[in-house]
Amino acid sequence: MPFRDLIGQARAIRFLHRALTTGRIAHAYLFSGPVGVGKQAAALAFAQALNCEQVASVEFGVSSGYPTPDTRHPTPMDGCGECRACRNIANGQHPDVQVIEPDGATVKIEQIRTLEADAALVPYEAQWKVFILNRSERMTEQAANALLKTLEEPPRRTVFILLTSTVSALLPTIASRCQTVTFSPLPHGQIEALLTEKGMEPSRARLIASLSQGSIERALSPEMSSLPTTRDLLLEGLGRGLQGGPAALVELAEKLAKDREKLQQQLEILSAWLRDLMVAKASGRRNWLVNDDRHEAVTRQAEGVPLDAILDGLRAVHAVMENLVRNANPRLSMEDLLLRLRELLPSGLLSVSA
Ligand SMILES: [Zn+2]
Repeated sequence: MPFRDLIGQARAIRFLHRALTTGRIAHAYLFSGPVGVGKQAAALAFAQALNCEQVASVEFGVSSGYPTPDTRHPTPMDGCGECRACRNIANGQHPDVQVIEPDGATVKIEQIRTLEADAALVPYEAQWKVFILNRSERMTEQAANALLKTLEEPPRRTVFILLTSTVSALLPTIASRCQTVTFSPLPHGQIEALLTEKGMEPSRARLIASLSQGSIERALSPEMSSLPTTRDLLLEGLGRGLQGGPAALVELAEKLAKDREKLQQQLEILSAWLRDLMVAKASGRRNWLVNDDRHEAVTRQAEGVPLDAILDGLRAVHAVMENLVRNANPRLSMEDLLLRLRELLPSGLLSVSA
């Protein structure tokens, strides 16, 4: 899709627009930012803007300026999205625009060799050849060294776009040969709006957007579609566990700690719930709640517990989240957390149906 249809990332898009309108196209870009925030979509939009048949006749570097907001007339800074080139790029069928994905766990040297051989040929039909290297931090050392050679002597009218969520994992010599374009997590409001536009019920969209970590990809993942159920089950389990004795808590901690990836999400859910208790307690504003679909339970629980206890609980959850990132033992961390929550919160408090 062309730039005008992308969500958020105004700063990154402005940077790319400037390259297009001035005609100063770098031979290599490094799009850096979290997974699922639109890096690949922006790379394809850039490829469309470079190769759109509607704008191909316009000389690069001779810009008529920024378009009006209602841009039915493409300018050199955006593809039309409708011509053959734009459509083929969007569908992954353009011979001169390629997206390279890791082959298994890594991007291998054979893949870079094929890319180099392709890059050395003149474009089939396009003005610019564009190679988009997804998860470029997964290049093997040999692959990275091979790519470095190409970046040192880049073919004419060829653009390499490296996408990564972890710049530190790339060879510094590669990063320094690219112009870096930074992509940020998307604001929750923008993701929420996108989800409601797709027909999702508003309170559900609010919950999913708030726990998507600013990633559209994550917000649209199947795992997130079951988020309300996951939350209810988690809170029920916690509510029951906190009422039980130490043995029940240890058992619950072990159960929660089993799947490390899931655990982060469950802690985020718990954090959002406690945050809502705090909001309800401090302001009573329903439209600030993440768990708007459960606003009655939130309000009821907030009444039964002092603000200090909620804040301490929230701090304890955040401390565990940080410690887990630093490789703390999940089971022990969860045991500590559950014991702390039992001290702070009246028994059964977290249960949604309580
Ligand atoms: Zn076009």
